[in-house]
Amino acid sequence: MIRYSLICERDHEFDGWFSSSEGYEAQAAAGEVACPQCGSTRVSKALMAPNVAKGVVKRSSGTTANEMAERMSMMMLALRKHVEENCDYVGDAFAEEARRIHYGETEHRDIYGEATLDEARELIEEGVTVAPLPIRPTRQVN
Ligand SMILES: [Zn+2]
Repeated sequence: MIRYSLICERDHEFDGWFSSSEGYEAQAAAGEVACPQCGSTRVSKALMAPNVAKGVVKRSSGTTANEMAERMSMMMLALRKHVEENCDYVGDAFAEEARRIHYGETEHRDIYGEATLDEARELIEEGVTVAPLPIRPTRQVN
């Protein structure tokens, strides 16, 4: 048996049970499916958008919000590891150091460190490539 939510030409919604989708089609075509409120046989299947959508999202993605958050933090950790292994930590001297590299006053290398929003804005205005890191560095400079 299969249950359909049906709707008649006057927008009356009702449920109907059928042996199969073909069974529904055959009965509807023969005028055997009538609206219980007005008796109209001009009925069609109602779209159950919210229910359908929920079912689809759950089944097709297979990913919960928690899993997504976990994956995100894994990516953050990988990014931090990459930065820490490949870039020099310059701490608060970031803006100064980035500028020196930009103007060729010191050897070119990738650095990371801390900068204030104002410092970052000034660097960008000077054409220095900077990117915000969505993480806090763990390594400390003493
Ligand atoms: Zn009706």
